Amino acid sequence: MAGVSDDSGVVVDRVGKTYDGDGDPVRALDDVSFSVEGGEFVCLVGPSGCGKTTLFRVIAGLADATDGEVRLDGTPVTGPTTDMGVVFQEYHLFPWLTVEENVGFGLERSDRSADERAARVDEMLDLVGLGEFRGSYPKSLSGGMKQRVAIARALAVDPDLLLMDEPFGAVDAQTREMLQRELLDVWASTGKTVLFVTHDVAEAVTLADRIVVMAAEPGRVREVVDVDVDRPRERGDPAFGERVARVRELIGARP
Ligand code: ADP
Ligand code: MG
Repeated sequence: MAGVSDDSGVVVDRVGKTYDGDGDPVRALDDVSFSVEGGEFVCLVGPSGCGKTTLFRVIAGLADATDGEVRLDGTPVTGPTTDMGVVFQEYHLFPWLTVEENVGFGLERSDRSADERAARVDEMLDLVGLGEFRGSYPKSLSGGMKQRVAIARALAVDPDLLLMDEPFGAVDAQTREMLQRELLDVWASTGKTVLFVTHDVAEAVTLADRIVVMAAEPGRVREVVDVDVDRPRERGDPAFGERVARVRELIGARP
């Protein structure tokens, strides 16, 4: 990856992953390389089975690569770290904890004082607009609210990178568009680096500075598309439609 600055952001460097599987081994990722600069918003799109979740897990340090490596701010990722906040499609909230306890969970292990932790939780609840639900339990929340809690929890420890795997896949279309706008506000106000996995092309074009388009069998990078369209982006705008068509064409193209 000549010419790519290694000291801020994420570098995925020739990553391969083979699953042993029951019968034949599955080559889930093959020679995947790209980078995400500090403060950039990058989406990863591709058809089902192209290795998006596998790559997400490797970047998050939740799975080992078979080949290559991932570096965060220049340091190889060897396991989960508080430098990354991770948001999954399923909310993964603790049902026995309140909203504020869920948001504060990762802070328990930090060296902040109780007052500092409480202030940080307040700040995060404000950021996602859930202050008045601080004492509620997850079961009483809508899907969109649960995902806001998950985002607040991921951001609470102030990670350099927010890593999200189809985080809005389980909510209705209207809530999804609201969450997309909110996430862009959070990104703009915090300056975080975001790597966002989705199979929804319009979602990727709404959110991303650049889109890494993947292809399947084996999972690999087909092309990286620049989304040089001003924000806020309108779906009816011809430039928006052109980028969507381009990415769809890449996904549908034969190997
Ligand atoms: P995506 O998230 O893009 O849908 P995945 O990363 O989930 O793709 O899967 C990529 C490929 O790896 C698929 O062929 C899938 O069947 C295979 N795969 C994923 N997880 C495992 C696993 N734990 N063991 C064996 N094969 C797996
Ligand atoms: Mg997946």
